[in-house]
Amino acid sequence: MKPVRFDYARPADLAAAIALGRRDDVVVKVIAGGQSLGPMLNLRLIQPDLLVDITAIAELKRVEEAADSITIGSCVTHADIEDGHVPDVTCGALRAVASGIAYRAVRNRGTIGGSLVHADPSADWISALTALGASVIIHGAQQERRVPIEGFMAGVFETDLASGELVSGIQIPRLSSAARWGYYKTCRKTGEFAHAIGVYLEDPERSVCRAVIGATGGKPIVFADANALVGAGRSPGALDVKLARDGMTAHGLTDPIDQQIHLAALRRAIARANGS
Ligand SMILES: Cc1cc2nc3c(=O)[nH]c(=O)nc-3n(C[C@H](O)[C@H](O)[C@H](O)COP(=O)(O)OP(=O)(O)OC[C@H]3O[C@@H](n4cnc5c(N)ncnc54)[C@H](O)[C@@H]3O)c2cc1C
Repeated sequence: MKPVRFDYARPADLAAAIALGRRDDVVVKVIAGGQSLGPMLNLRLIQPDLLVDITAIAELKRVEEAADSITIGSCVTHADIEDGHVPDVTCGALRAVASGIAYRAVRNRGTIGGSLVHADPSADWISALTALGASVIIHGAQQERRVPIEGFMAGVFETDLASGELVSGIQIPRLSSAARWGYYKTCRKTGEFAHAIGVYLEDPERSVCRAVIGATGGKPIVFADANALVGAGRSPGALDVKLARDGMTAHGLTDPIDQQIHLAALRRAIARANGS
């Protein structure tokens, strides 16, 4: 299949992109890396009149390091992060997650913001950034607003973005040097979306102990205080299986085999955090 005919604009600044996105006389769609949107256009699942390419906007490629966080522009690619062009404030977590997304051709073009807005439950960034406690920076015509990432993804392929709004960046807290994290995803072969994701982050200096079960078919399941889940042992074997299963059941992940695969992913994430 081929896309429908559409006009194409490549604005150089955010204000121009937002103005185009607010046009109500035509169907407007934003494109970043095109790795998810491209196939949808080809299948005519989306039939825009106007495609607004946001990759020429310098502000969306910015990387700003502050004392307690880093802000990454939404059009920073997975490969930019994999290649270390983004300062490491997460003890290597961002780089490791980026390098495990699909394969290099996809990572060269796919962007961190595009991945979040696409809101595929099996995608890597939504689970990883949830564990890291990131916030999404959103720009509309009137103002900028920030949403904790847990509130950004509303459901499968659904976000909190209003019509005409753009994600301009993602703010990620700096981990302390004592932080330990582990990320594990299961997929049948390299380059495929995950079937299950486990993420574990312990940063005692910031009183953070968080676990995330991702690729659930919906929003990631967050154990914001995972102390009870991992117990004093802090080891994969010490995981409170009933608590984890109850959490999954409450979020509609009820199939026992699916639960077992997600439990295994979380256990392996904890093992990686422990250095094994
Ligand atoms: C073969 C293949 C395998 C893949 N495997 C994985 C994988 O293992 N893990 C994984 O996480 N991902 C995977 N992906 C997805 C990939 O990471 C994409 O890069 C990502 O989903 C979308 O990013 P993009 O920049 O290409 O966005 P696009 O495709 O350009 O856009 C996606 C959606 O987001 C909107 N959008 C984009 N940027 C913005 C913005 N700043 N503000 C508002 N709206 C915006 C678009 O309008 C569109 O609706 C895979 C993709 C392919 C093709």
